[in-house]
Amino acid sequence: MQEEYDIIVAGSGVAGSLAAAVAAKDGLKVLLVDKNSENEPGKKTNWGWVCGDAVAKSHLDFVTKRIGLSFSEPELDHKVEGVVAYSPDMQSKFPFDGEGFILDRPEFVRKLKNFALKNGAEYLPEFDVEAPIVKDNFIVGISGKDKNMKNKEIKAKLVIDALGISTNLRRKLPDNPYIDKTIDVEDLESTGRYIYEFDVEKDDPKFYDQKYAIIHLNQNIAPGGYGWVFPKSKHGRVNIGIGVQRASLIKRNNKIGKNDTLQSLMDEYVKFIPILKNPKLYNKDNNGKGYWSVSVRRQLECLVYNGYMGAGDSMAMPNPISAGGIGPALVAGILAGENAARAVREKDVSMKNLWKYNLDFNAEYGNKTAGMEVFRIYLQSLNNDIINYGFRNFLTDKEAVDLTYGRIPELSISTKVKMVLKGVANINAFNNLRYAVDEMKVFNKLYAVYPKTPDNFVEWKQKVISEMNKVKERFEPNPV
Ligand SMILES: Cc1cc2nc3c(=O)[nH]c(=O)nc-3n(C[C@H](O)[C@H](O)[C@H](O)COP(=O)(O)OP(=O)(O)OC[C@H]3O[C@@H](n4cnc5c(N)ncnc54)[C@H](O)[C@@H]3O)c2cc1C
Repeated sequence: MQEEYDIIVAGSGVAGSLAAAVAAKDGLKVLLVDKNSENEPGKKTNWGWVCGDAVAKSHLDFVTKRIGLSFSEPELDHKVEGVVAYSPDMQSKFPFDGEGFILDRPEFVRKLKNFALKNGAEYLPEFDVEAPIVKDNFIVGISGKDKNMKNKEIKAKLVIDALGISTNLRRKLPDNPYIDKTIDVEDLESTGRYIYEFDVEKDDPKFYDQKYAIIHLNQNIAPGGYGWVFPKSKHGRVNIGIGVQRASLIKRNNKIGKNDTLQSLMDEYVKFIPILKNPKLYNKDNNGKGYWSVSVRRQLECLVYNGYMGAGDSMAMPNPISAGGIGPALVAGILAGENAARAVREKDVSMKNLWKYNLDFNAEYGNKTAGMEVFRIYLQSLNNDIINYGFRNFLTDKEAVDLTYGRIPELSISTKVKMVLKGVANINAFNNLRYAVDEMKVFNKLYAVYPKTPDNFVEWKQKVISEMNKVKERFEPNPV
């Protein structure tokens, strides 16, 4: 007999577990499905829960305020006062992102998944989702393989796609002009991440600081991305990694005659951090070492289709500058769960009735991400010398922090500095920064008039794409 659910949530990571918890809360029949074993929700790949695991306190507070779920140890492994980004020459730094936590990620997602079960969701582990079931242009369920590798179909009125970046639900939607099925490879960062323990001889705030999450911008070490060293609760344990953009890595290798890969750069980065003496993998939950991808574009322009919603990495939600995706996944999980429950109760799961989720997500988080994508593309066009110079001369601390939050700096103080800028390349880079800031304003204006219904959406999306193409044409990756 075919069982039918109100809502299927595919993927029990951060976004999916919260969406299921919220949707199940007032009595709907919700099924949360994941390919992992029961005790490993949110494990992205056989490599583990590959992530930097840093999350801003403000995002955790959003969850507590909105649905009453609060966090403590063990899932909050370590508190930090903020993030500090260093220039390639290590001579300048910008602090940003305020108070936050480094998570024990497996514990964090277990807690979210258990919260979903407590709220009444059913859990189906070891189910590999393969495709959406489509009927009359509506998504009406999922198909996949159960733990005995048997093909199975499960029906529902609505499916929430929280399968992460590798989602095969979004990729297999019917052809439509609303949700893209693919993401440009240059909008992805390939990442490596280790959790290491090491002999602590001395702290060095440029490389390891128990109070701060440290980021190293360096186009040679992490072309088109950055390296990070995030402290864990035990003194002498860190989450360390790099992200690189494919085109930047290829250009860098060609220009300097090297053949580096993500793996070789990761190992170089570990050597670059002088305080890491005798590093050994810390392999709790078999989560010590892994590689995965994260997107750094604006979230997909539309997050809903008939009988379908997406939340988290499946919809490219991470912050385009920092690649922080836990926060937006928490926000989207809650908003998707709320809107899904509403639509099922209203007996209307059409794209039109789900549209409010687009508006809710944009109001809470998504309005600013296209602007941040512009800044990320601009940054990827600068070599180390210009980044060093720019850190010292282009922006004040406040302006830099504003940019990382998607707020647009006026460049007022910097404008004065411009009068004394030295070197053609630097002056060009500053003028390009002004162009980038103007483009950020264009995107913020476009998102301020995000269509209230699906009616004018396709035209609006076209404007967003052509404007972003202009930015990409102007700023090509140029790491060395
Ligand atoms: C190396 C790295 C470092 C990062 N650092 C940070 C950071 O410091 N801070 C931050 O905020 N963000 C960071 N991010 C981004 C962050 O990890 C993601 O944004 C976040 O995990 C998104 O959560 P999600 O629930 O959308 O997806 P995921 O966490 O990817 O969860 C998806 C779930 O779906 C399941 N699934 C996938 N496919 C199937 C299938 N076919 N069938 C059944 N189940 C399936 C998976 O098993 C998993 O449980 C980083 C990402 C990477 C790769």
